[in-house]
Amino acid sequence: MEIAADRVVTIHYTLKDDSGAVLDSSAGGEPLAYIQGHGNLVPGLESALEGKQDGNTLAVVVAPADGYGVRDAALVQRVPKRSLQGSGEIKKGMQFQARTGDGMRLFTVTAVVGDMVTLDGNHPLADQTLHFDVEVVGVRDATAEELEHGHVHGAGGHHH
Ligand SMILES: [Zn+2]
Repeated sequence: MEIAADRVVTIHYTLKDDSGAVLDSSAGGEPLAYIQGHGNLVPGLESALEGKQDGNTLAVVVAPADGYGVRDAALVQRVPKRSLQGSGEIKKGMQFQARTGDGMRLFTVTAVVGDMVTLDGNHPLADQTLHFDVEVVGVRDATAEELEHGHVHGAGGHHH
């Protein structure tokens, strides 16, 4: 069966950066299951998988704009610690959900200096060219319930 919109696709993948360092991989674990055409993968990878079939392997290079985005300096903000009150001690690496003009966004604390905290709303992989090695291990039609929920049920997906 070919990969097309509204089909559940199961893949094994390894993601490397430009230097060849492995950033993420499903190797040795459960494969990833997602619904094609619902923006569950970065756009460059999802479009490269369209039309592929079970058993296909592919190497995909995804530019930042089709991956986790181009770094936006406007998403880096310095705020007083007291504006994050209720979060306990603020440490580098902590993440906060915050409302922005584009909806909810995840911010990562990148620095704490005195009473000021630097928050970065860019994805940690923004500006990175992504190198994916992918093996398609399964393709099937999504159930009506999966399409309604927007995620896969069962192996590699949600259990609820
Ligand atoms: Zn569900």
